[in-house]
Amino acid sequence: MPTVVTLHRETGARAYTRPMDFTVIGVDGDDTLWHSEGHFVLTEQRFTELLAPWVDAETVHATLLDTERRNLTHFGYGVKGFTLSMIETALQLTGHRIDGVHVERIIDLGKELLSHPVELLDGVAETIEALSRRHRLVLVTKGDLFHQESKVAASGLADLFERIEIVAEKDVATYTRVLARMGVAPAAFCMVGNSVKSDILPVLEIGGAGIHVPYHVTWALEHAEVELGHPRMAGVAGIRQVPEAITALESARWAA
Ligand SMILES: [Mg+2]
Repeated sequence: MPTVVTLHRETGARAYTRPMDFTVIGVDGDDTLWHSEGHFVLTEQRFTELLAPWVDAETVHATLLDTERRNLTHFGYGVKGFTLSMIETALQLTGHRIDGVHVERIIDLGKELLSHPVELLDGVAETIEALSRRHRLVLVTKGDLFHQESKVAASGLADLFERIEIVAEKDVATYTRVLARMGVAPAAFCMVGNSVKSDILPVLEIGGAGIHVPYHVTWALEHAEVELGHPRMAGVAGIRQVPEAITALESARWAA
């Protein structure tokens, strides 16, 4: 692709830019940079075993999901809200007969989930490093503020990001605010993440682009239909293919 030379009308200065390229790349944290949902699934299995004397696994799963959905507006995303939802579910399903020892074990499940070491997904470190050489990077993640801050710090990737945005919800309003803070237009922004609902759809809605990198498990409350064939969206098998997908999306815009 040719470099476009624009002449500034007032100063006569030449700016070598490719106006169709993505200036800023947004990257999701949980299940895009590091493992997360797999740990929640294992914790839920242990929670189910804990309640086995009272109730079957299927009922536990369905009730916990309902409780989490209801509690999102109270506690937001993250492990602390999940732990409170487990306790509430246990009280409900045992008719308040669950004893203090079991409640304490549920709290411990939550603490273990919070203290789980950060494990980067395959190819993350080198890909983020490569992207940082060509783009301004912003990490956009939701969940408990304290937990997300610790994960970012433990990931060793923080210095590669211009901004770290730990947000309550990933919707149109949030992305609009993040882009305004960075002084970038939606058309120059591309978001990379595993959740179509949180990382892709709201960004497409404001005129940005999205690259979906699937994770092997998706939380039920993050399920959304993949909008196949959207001109500003790409899907890749793993994060290593993201730089290539960015170039392809940029080239498609140049050709359009
Ligand atoms: Mg994610």
